[in-house]
Amino acid sequence: MWATSPRPTPSWPSSSRSRSRHARRSAWPRCPRAPGSRSKPSWRSDRSEAVVSAVVDPGSQIERKLHKLGLRTPADCLLHLPLRYEDETRVTDIGRLLPGVFAQVEGEVTRCEVQMRPRRQLVAAVADETGELALRFLNFYPSQQRQLAVGSRVRVRGEPRGGLFGLEMVHPRVGGADAQLPQRLTPVYPTTQGLAQSILRRQIAAALAQADLSDSLPDVVRERWGLCGFADALRELHTPAADATVEDLAQHTHPAWRRVKFDELLAQQLSLALARAERRSRRAPAMPRAAGADTLFERLLAQLPFRLSKAQQRVVAEISADLGRAHPMQRLLQGDVGAGKTVVAALAAAQAIDHGYQVALMAPTEILAEQHLRKFGEWLAPLGVNIAWLSGSLSAKARREPLAALASGEAQLIVGTQALIQEHVQFHRLGLAITDEQHRFGVGQRLALREKGVAGADGIHQLMMSATPIPRTLAMTVYADLDVSEIDELPPGRTPVLTKLVNDVRRDEVVARIHVAVEAGRQAYWVCPLVEESEALELQTAVDTFETLRAALPQLRVGLVHGKLPTAEKAEVMRAFKAGELDLLVATTVIEVGVDVPNASLMVIEHAERFGLAQLHQLRGRVGRGSAESICVLMYQAPLSRVAKQRLRTMHETTDGFLIAQRDLALRGPGEFLGVRQSGEALLRFADLREDGGLVDEAREAAAWMLAEYPDAVHAHLARWLRGRENFLKA
Ligand code: ADP
Ligand code: MG
Repeated sequence: MWATSPRPTPSWPSSSRSRSRHARRSAWPRCPRAPGSRSKPSWRSDRSEAVVSAVVDPGSQIERKLHKLGLRTPADCLLHLPLRYEDETRVTDIGRLLPGVFAQVEGEVTRCEVQMRPRRQLVAAVADETGELALRFLNFYPSQQRQLAVGSRVRVRGEPRGGLFGLEMVHPRVGGADAQLPQRLTPVYPTTQGLAQSILRRQIAAALAQADLSDSLPDVVRERWGLCGFADALRELHTPAADATVEDLAQHTHPAWRRVKFDELLAQQLSLALARAERRSRRAPAMPRAAGADTLFERLLAQLPFRLSKAQQRVVAEISADLGRAHPMQRLLQGDVGAGKTVVAALAAAQAIDHGYQVALMAPTEILAEQHLRKFGEWLAPLGVNIAWLSGSLSAKARREPLAALASGEAQLIVGTQALIQEHVQFHRLGLAITDEQHRFGVGQRLALREKGVAGADGIHQLMMSATPIPRTLAMTVYADLDVSEIDELPPGRTPVLTKLVNDVRRDEVVARIHVAVEAGRQAYWVCPLVEESEALELQTAVDTFETLRAALPQLRVGLVHGKLPTAEKAEVMRAFKAGELDLLVATTVIEVGVDVPNASLMVIEHAERFGLAQLHQLRGRVGRGSAESICVLMYQAPLSRVAKQRLRTMHETTDGFLIAQRDLALRGPGEFLGVRQSGEALLRFADLREDGGLVDEAREAAAWMLAEYPDAVHAHLARWLRGRENFLKA
């Protein structure tokens, strides 16, 4: 029998002694039989709920550690997949051992002694025909000493290291040389401190033998998508055959991995489809676009200073049709920066107001919310719409009026920040909620806004705007319950922004460039460097930059805006810049989202290498909004990291937000891309959206088929994969 060092304490309950004895005898239950091949223990009756702790002492350390890993039920254990494998099916010649490479050797013990210096330790050696290997144990049991008696033949496994006198293994696992060699690879699981692999392996092997491994996919589905069986896949993943291609397993390209990833993505697609169906069954006020030239909608359209682009017309029609239905709209309006999403939102608002419903417009920052207030005010106030404003920085007294106007129904449109979703905010008849830059909000915030809906309906219409284009794979997983409208062309008359990469040492030339642009009647932004470690430092940098630029450009009117500026001052600076009373605006990233000043045609971004791609794209989107040729100067400090180089090159090469988003996804991964909380990524343990895009398509097709043909299988599949986490997907 193998002994480990330090030895795990077996903690099987007395009630399952027969199994426990069996487990001890074979020590490594590495190739469990299919379920049903042995008598079922009673705790298996309710498989999904049965706690794994039934085989460890309840309340024990081990149970706590298992829980820490999320392992409560046999079903949890099934999906706790190995990080890698150790090959114990072969014995390596001692002479061929390589430092750092796990191996198993067999030989005769040639030495075994307890040394007292530098500390008490057991030092032994084993030899075969090809060489000798030292073994060292810093803690040991008398049983190990006996096992390593000089002259006995042992099998030793571990990772050899270069020692003072040749190779040695520290705390190797030692067993008798007569035991049969395992036929399958040994899994190494992700674990937590103090939980030995041996215990995890035993737990998981037991789970494999006892949990429900029945296939949740109908045979025809498996065949059509060329998937291996669920039970086979899991057995192969936990204890692969000795000849398995370890490379495929490690790269997650093995057929068994494909099955697990497919199942996971399928569960996600199924639950999204169900959430969508559930939404269709909820009711929301129907507000179809009314006929006649005197509606607010038509009057707004008629007085716009421009004609809607084709793309805008199309998305307006899509949204308009949604609003006319008696089910909650949940639509994502995507469009690159400057595509003209705001006017689309305003038209949606007009349609709701035409039906006597209130509209809420929520933006993630105060600057952006204020800008919307101004724009909506410009467009809708002259048409008689009563607009209210609510932000976190309003005093309690100043809030009283908008709150009362909302509750009474007098205010038809409210614009604001997250203050809108506070508990005491009550609407009279909220029918449509619009969120701008929706990826900045969490699921909870969007749900909270939805809860403010009108009595009598169990949903309101939601329009979510985003300038962060989402690669298709992500949209299909994360936003599968959203309908997506895309503005895929910029309004006419825009000239693409020219992007220049300039080394920081040429700063003086850049400053001179600003002067020239201003002389020509243009305005410019100077974006201060991001200082991630410290907000205070970032602020200081902005103030310093402002002072330096003001000194360097004495003829120019220079303004400064940053997040810590009091609201009123911030608004005043923005207003002045917009009105052309300032030539140069020094800013922190507060201007990243949404700010719209068409006459600004030059942007300098300092330390551009510190910014992410999405952020750079957003920032650059602040220029190129008018008809003048715009320039974005990305100033960087050498040397650049590999990733920073790639980012800057991408920015130089393209202004296509979609392409940039895809590169961003490749560079950063989806979690960061959208913020883990709302990305749904948290639910994907096995599939990787960067690599498994094709699998998403297949899972989506399979989901549609199963929903139509195999509702029972849908249920079984979701029960296995989601287990109570469905809510994540609904928002
Ligand atoms: P974003 O999609 O980034 O929110 P905005 O809605 O702020 O973009 O629009 C950018 C600018 O383009 C605004 O000044 C807006 O008034 C203007 N705009 C929007 N649609 C059109 C159009 N069809 N023709 C000309 N200008 C437009
Ligand atoms: Mg916008």
